Amino acid sequence: MKQRFALVVVVSLIVAACASMQGSSSQDLVNRAVQQMGGADKLGSVKSLWVKATVKQWEPEQSAMAGGEARFANNATFEAVTDVATRATRIDWVRKFEYPTPRTFTFTEIVTPDAGYVAGIDSNGRTKQSMESTPPAHSMSGLRLAATHRELRRASSGLFLEMLRNPGAVSSAGSVTAGGVAYPTVSYRAGEETFWVMFDSASGLPARIRTLDYDSVWGDVTYDLVLSDWQTFDGIKVAATRTYELNGKTIMEVKLTEAKLNVPVAADRVTIPAAYKAAAAKPVAGKVPHQWVIRRQFIGTYLDSDVPSYDTRGSQGLQFVEVAPGVQHVRGGTHHSLLVEQKDHLIVFDSPVSDWQSNWVLATAKAKYPNKPVKYLVLTHHHMDHTGGLRAYVAQGATLVVGKGAGEHFRKVLAAPFTRNPDLAAKDLSKVEIIEVADKRVFGDGASEVHAYLIENPHANATLIGYVPAAKLGYVTDIWSPGAPLPDKLNPALASLVAGVKKAGIQPAKFAGGHGSVDDYSKLTALEGK
Ligand SMILES: [Zn+2]
Repeated sequence: MKQRFALVVVVSLIVAACASMQGSSSQDLVNRAVQQMGGADKLGSVKSLWVKATVKQWEPEQSAMAGGEARFANNATFEAVTDVATRATRIDWVRKFEYPTPRTFTFTEIVTPDAGYVAGIDSNGRTKQSMESTPPAHSMSGLRLAATHRELRRASSGLFLEMLRNPGAVSSAGSVTAGGVAYPTVSYRAGEETFWVMFDSASGLPARIRTLDYDSVWGDVTYDLVLSDWQTFDGIKVAATRTYELNGKTIMEVKLTEAKLNVPVAADRVTIPAAYKAAAAKPVAGKVPHQWVIRRQFIGTYLDSDVPSYDTRGSQGLQFVEVAPGVQHVRGGTHHSLLVEQKDHLIVFDSPVSDWQSNWVLATAKAKYPNKPVKYLVLTHHHMDHTGGLRAYVAQGATLVVGKGAGEHFRKVLAAPFTRNPDLAAKDLSKVEIIEVADKRVFGDGASEVHAYLIENPHANATLIGYVPAAKLGYVTDIWSPGAPLPDKLNPALASLVAGVKKAGIQPAKFAGGHGSVDDYSKLTALEGK
């Protein structure tokens, strides 16, 4: 009897195991979650959803120290309404930024399946269309539209109805551990995007909704929406606390303060004005740099363009501008580099935005200076917008040069896998040589000397400036943007540059910038003592 009982137990365990492996389990997880949220009928009866929320955002790659604590970016509130039938969403934002400078942007986004629109100013990096519109407004780029679609989908209970209705796009992903908890997980293929949905074993509710993203600093990353604090609004359970984690670290926290179902939505509230709709891009399919699009908005500096490096409607594209013999200032985009010719190689300062931009610089340099590879990539500082294209340079043999104290951070960055990089094939970069500059470093010799100096400043630790003695030309990023209007007296950043130049004992006539153009250094010294 005893043996027979044991056999029954074993057989039923095997049957149970088979059932869970037949694929029905993934659908069971979805079914149970939908039941827990209020049921398919209830979720399917939602005509509109209105929510009010508070938001906090942090940007890890604008920290004061390389690898240091994430920078607090902004406090925001929004009211959002979605009309389910037309899949149109309107979000009215008030964003109070603390970084890079304190300011408040009040604006509206309207997102429909085939176009996106922004009324008001939402960024310091404005497009030509925004600048030329009165009042300010612009059509969204296809990149932003696609990224916004993905995030609206991730955040919506409707995602689970979709999964229920498209069982062929749902498959078991086994057990995935996140934050120390093992979750039964399914993957859901939704058009160009795949979501990994992890369920809470006890409640059956979804716990995390993950995408596998590319980050220009950290390579392959996980991006998770973590759902908690479930509350019932009009019979539907909604997670009132929504935390977003990048590689397990919180970068955004959303708290729903109010939610209402089936409030009437006037059509004009979610309608894009005809002129902006006509000019709007369609959502970009695939290869969307989601992290760039999402997080540049965190600090209010996103350029809403289908080429992240420059405004496709306001710029002819990137270009080399010869600012001294053999010295090219790479301009035309939002972020610049400086390239200095040597006898048998090139030295480049800064690798902004992405490897797409670096590939452009490398190809243009190769055509102009054949047989002169880039031997050194000198990074002025570690912020993502000036370093996101570092891999393209080191992958073709460049040595990385950074300020003292930043080496360990970049060692980790270069050890990170980047199989999802849209612009560069995966390669082991963990052995790339990294030079830290403690005080001063001289590259080249004689007529073609190039210097790098470590300077104290309020923007970022371990910052370097460049200097080309033959041209009496300096290079500076984020501390001064040459060509931009100057204040009446030196601010702390400008004062730090003047102090750094004195300490270095150099006599620059001009500076080129990681932003801006080229301007006379005497304009800064003229402000000393004012
Ligand atoms: Zn910076």
